Amino acid sequence: MKQASFIIKTFGCQMNVRDSEIMAQLLAEHGYIESMEMDEADVVILNTCSIRAKAEQKAMSLLGMLRKTKKRRPGMKICVAGCVAQQEGQELCQRMDHVDLVIGTQNLYELAGLLDGLDGTSKVAISMSNSYEIPAFIPAMPSLVSGVGLQDTPPAPAFRKFLTIMQGCNNYCTYCVVPYTRGREISRKVSDIIDEAHVLVEAGVQEITLLGQNVNSYGRTNQVTAKDGDYSFAQLLRAVAAIDGLKRLRFTTSNPKDLSIDLMRCFDEIEILCPQFHLPVQSGSNNVLSRMNRKYTRELYLQRVAELRAFRPDIALSTDVIVGFPGETDDDFEQTMEILEEVRFHSSFSFKYSDRPGTRSADFDDKVDEQVKSQRLSRFQKRQDQICLEQNSLYLDQILPVMVEKVTEDGLVGRTDTNHIVHIDNKILCSPGDIVNVTIHHAGQHSLNGRIAINQ
Ligand code: SF4
Repeated sequence: MKQASFIIKTFGCQMNVRDSEIMAQLLAEHGYIESMEMDEADVVILNTCSIRAKAEQKAMSLLGMLRKTKKRRPGMKICVAGCVAQQEGQELCQRMDHVDLVIGTQNLYELAGLLDGLDGTSKVAISMSNSYEIPAFIPAMPSLVSGVGLQDTPPAPAFRKFLTIMQGCNNYCTYCVVPYTRGREISRKVSDIIDEAHVLVEAGVQEITLLGQNVNSYGRTNQVTAKDGDYSFAQLLRAVAAIDGLKRLRFTTSNPKDLSIDLMRCFDEIEILCPQFHLPVQSGSNNVLSRMNRKYTRELYLQRVAELRAFRPDIALSTDVIVGFPGETDDDFEQTMEILEEVRFHSSFSFKYSDRPGTRSADFDDKVDEQVKSQRLSRFQKRQDQICLEQNSLYLDQILPVMVEKVTEDGLVGRTDTNHIVHIDNKILCSPGDIVNVTIHHAGQHSLNGRIAINQ
């Protein structure tokens, strides 16, 4: 009998990339084979994101296009997973009657069984439990899931993997859907995380990124059992870093309000912990931060940055910024520009505020004009681009350890521990995951260029 094939299209954040890998492995274990072509796959899964309007629109537009494909190939099954699925549930099925299955963020482990049981009547599997347990999950060999990449980006290389340590969020920032789509914060068991990390390293993974919506609060919620001890995130980092053979360790994402001195100390103590920190500021104005319910002030944020740099002066900081949050005045925005000048982020993800259904800020009535938002975003991004170039120029003539990601016709492409992409002019015999020393001779806004250092 012909094996059924599947393809997963992933939208949005790194959590979704990891969820797609898990779904891919579960389907493979169930006898499905991964397809690279949407036009040929028996099952098409859209793993959606609703954190920003754009990501949601992209997924919905692909879903709309699949209506025609379904008419041509009625046997094809279409499944919608992720945050949009969780939020819309039954309504999505009514709007998009060509969808066969809508599966919530906490139900992804049931995917294979739900697909098997499709009988055309029950199309929705959604749960939202505060006592939800993240099942122990032993990952497949990395090659099995190498085809699952972000929409329009190449698949994640198998020497580098994400490892989920927690789900959900308790913070309720007023603009954010996550607490409603992924539920309350739940930490995974330390022993499950360490087991998974061991399997990855034994399979050849050189770099692990620990994933959570707010990793700084790891261990404050359930599922860190007495047997595992009382682990904070800093303690978990130390335990993963101790795994023999792991070369690089990263994590994301952090809320500045929960950033502890012990975690900052890890950057001084743990050799394989990469000197890179994504610390979302969102706004430089206390007024806006308070309306966002971020629970920190610009003063506290700047203090954390200074402390981090005291522990690790070469740390590369990146951030997230929302411009045009409801009520943001010209003066509020100037304070965001000031914090950009003060911190001089190595990079940032900046967006215009957009209402997300079900969030508190969607009901705020002092929305900022679209044109003003666009002008502010363009000003912020222009200055950030200049700062990126200035920061990157500081690496000129330095010899940096670069982890090779791929071999191209012109040379190699790799990444520094500070997370900068480096295009290397010459080739040496090496494999993805190897670390080579590179002399930097050119700095651009978004990447560096270099040559393999002599005396390698
Ligand atoms: S900390 Fe705020 S922005 Fe981040 S996931 Fe939680 S609610 Fe959303």
